[in-house]
Amino acid sequence: MTEKIAKVVVDVPASNINRFFDYLIPDKLLGAIEIGMRVIVPFGNRTIMGYVLETVNETTFDETKLKQIKTTLDVQPVLTKELIDLGQWLAESTLSYFISSFQAMLPQALKASYDKSLHRLHPPINQRLADLFDGRDYIGFDELNDDFPLRIVNDEIGKGNVEWDYHVSTNESFKYVTMVEVIGTEAKFDLYLADLTKQSKKQFELVQYFLDDHATRPLKKVLKDNKTTRNTLNKLIDQQLIRLVKQQVNRDPYQGETEKTTPLTLAPQQQKALDAIVRKMNQHEAKTFLLHGVTGSGKTEVYLQAIDLAIRQDKEAIVLVPEISLTPMMVERFKRRFGDAVAVLHSALSKGERFDEWRKIQKKQVSVAVGARSAIFAPFENLGMIIIDEEHESTYKQEDHPRYHVRDVAKHRADYHKCPVVLGTATPTLETYARAKKGVYQLIEMPERINQSLMPKVTIQDMREELHQGNRTMFSRQLKEAIERRLEKREQVVLFLNRRGYSTFVMCRDCGHTVECPSCDISLTYHQRDHRLKCHYCNYSEPMPNVCPNCQSESIRFFGTGTEKVEEALNETFPEARIIRMDVDTTRKKGAHERLLKQFGNKQADILLGTQMIAKGLDFPDVTLVGVLAADGLLNLPDFRAAEKTFQLLTQVSGRAGRHELTGEVIVQTYTPEHYSVLFAKDYDYHGFFKQEMALRKAYQYPPYYFLTLITVTHENRLKAEEVTRVIQKLLVKHLTKEAVILGPTPSPIERIKGRYRFQCMVKYKDEPDLMSVLRKILQHYEAESRKEQLMIHIDLNPQQLM
Ligand code: ADP
Ligand code: ZN
Ligand code: ZN
Repeated sequence: MTEKIAKVVVDVPASNINRFFDYLIPDKLLGAIEIGMRVIVPFGNRTIMGYVLETVNETTFDETKLKQIKTTLDVQPVLTKELIDLGQWLAESTLSYFISSFQAMLPQALKASYDKSLHRLHPPINQRLADLFDGRDYIGFDELNDDFPLRIVNDEIGKGNVEWDYHVSTNESFKYVTMVEVIGTEAKFDLYLADLTKQSKKQFELVQYFLDDHATRPLKKVLKDNKTTRNTLNKLIDQQLIRLVKQQVNRDPYQGETEKTTPLTLAPQQQKALDAIVRKMNQHEAKTFLLHGVTGSGKTEVYLQAIDLAIRQDKEAIVLVPEISLTPMMVERFKRRFGDAVAVLHSALSKGERFDEWRKIQKKQVSVAVGARSAIFAPFENLGMIIIDEEHESTYKQEDHPRYHVRDVAKHRADYHKCPVVLGTATPTLETYARAKKGVYQLIEMPERINQSLMPKVTIQDMREELHQGNRTMFSRQLKEAIERRLEKREQVVLFLNRRGYSTFVMCRDCGHTVECPSCDISLTYHQRDHRLKCHYCNYSEPMPNVCPNCQSESIRFFGTGTEKVEEALNETFPEARIIRMDVDTTRKKGAHERLLKQFGNKQADILLGTQMIAKGLDFPDVTLVGVLAADGLLNLPDFRAAEKTFQLLTQVSGRAGRHELTGEVIVQTYTPEHYSVLFAKDYDYHGFFKQEMALRKAYQYPPYYFLTLITVTHENRLKAEEVTRVIQKLLVKHLTKEAVILGPTPSPIERIKGRYRFQCMVKYKDEPDLMSVLRKILQHYEAESRKEQLMIHIDLNPQQLM
């Protein structure tokens, strides 16, 4: 236990530093340093934060030359042994740095921040610098303005007059409340009372109050109960009858009394699902399940009861939901079933709130963590169950270092804890369903809605036809009539529009034709720079047509309408309707999302208009009509998953209608009513869609038949970005097998972001044992240049976003 050397990963994300460094544990810290703690160590001429990953007694370096750990930031490790191993695996499998992986696993508040200041040892010779110090011993780095020559500073450092000082601090902050504690004996209180004059009525009251039960209460409450101010307590404090103490408390973002729910009697399909999952939990088997259940089939109730059983065995559970702030209703269901046993982790919480929720897990105060993606790293030590709800959601892939998919991390943790993983969804990704069909995952189907309520009837509106009939508005006549009927009957409407303003694809409004790449089966993207349409996978390009290649119409143009425009149109068409608009603009403020949904739930509005964020998890009894304004927006993203995403979205959205007694109706407007993803979604035919989409994936060599790796190179200079991408492409051709398909270099669909040009190269492959080592070499090769030349190379294995 008292090893004297610590192996530390330091807070410097760079490949030559991406390893363990040995540090001596000084005598004063012997026995106090445990693995998984954060420490402060000297590094080069700096002082930085690091994680202790191992403690040993031997070093392969010259022990006398080892530097010493300065201090520790923790009394209790922040990383468990399991998470330390997980972090290393994560870094290796995503081509990230160890440090980035560990930081991704911990709440933001635990990240170190660095302050740099200049320390005066002797009076500087340089007058300018001396003036700046103005008699002080330290000046902050930010006090050296941009135009202050650093050469002067370096000069003085050389002369030994000044030195840089580094301070490491972290942001974790505890919240305290002031409590009033009663410390005087009754006899002492009596003495005090005897001395009081008749005028001190308040004091008499206060003494009565404290003697009543001697309870320790928050100061705020004491003052409120007695309708008094802090000053009136001073005498009692002076006499040592009471005292004020600070008590650490948790911030609880989910306060508020809610009634507890009790488990429902399960329907047969739910019982079967629960039994299968629980059996594996009891057998300590790391089995992954695909719970494929239509919307409203009662998946959530299955999760709740499975977790309940885990808790009864003193085990813990992680529940992942797609960016939880988007589904407050979901969180509430868990809170109401398990009460204080739940910690909620998501990005809408403040840093401090998130830290407190995380601490509840660390301190074993809770047994369930509900959260978005990063909750998969909840530091539980006895996991009994991992649930990933809506497993098809693309937010389960982290788009920044480390670029992990939550499914893979879940699998890894489940193997360690020997517990089941449940992937629940109405629309599994093709990858997942293919694995379930092969028996890699155990498939559980729940094809029926609870109470046998029917899925709402879906009708498709051909917007080309509307145009030909002279209707140039955003609403088909059928949708307009359907909305009017709901307004009359005081039922509610949900209108769905695709993500705002994505308009780089081109479509003919007369015939619905979009221009596709002849060899990639994806829409071509309009590039304004040279007024051409391009395929961003293979770099095929053609001029932007003036007339539709299919029907010669001149109505070929960009596509895309914003929610604001729709809201205007709604106001014009239905002046009496009360409308709530939900998009990134109206939900930016904390809590706005919940507030808007609550308003809609309280029937303070007739129409809820929104983007993706309203597609999920909403459950309002009076919604009987769901309208999809333009199904084409997603369909034509330059992404081979466009059809899959469209199918998923239409199915999700349809699930929002008629979930209760009232029957629902769904109207989908589109310019391409014949598209198979629209047709299969209309019939709720997942299996039909799966079959057809799999055939296409096979033909065009996409997942799940092939793996993908996307390499994106960005630079301020367009030529440079393209050239580096070409070199990488050639290297890959040289080092990978003949079977690998290597596409590029091609401009990314969003060709320039923040002044940086973006080029990409895509690898499609089945089995490339050398791929990782080649990619690693490429990264290392460009590392120096990256730093100097501002070149950036992103490698995304199994990318979800191809932008
Ligand atoms: P899903 O998660 O599959 O969309 P939910 O779990 O939200 O389905 O269930 C849909 C509705 O049915 C919810 O209102 C839920 O409370 C209700 N429900 C679920 N299971 C049962 C049950 N066994 N008995 C009665 N109602 C149920
Ligand atoms: Zn046309
Ligand atoms: Zn192409």
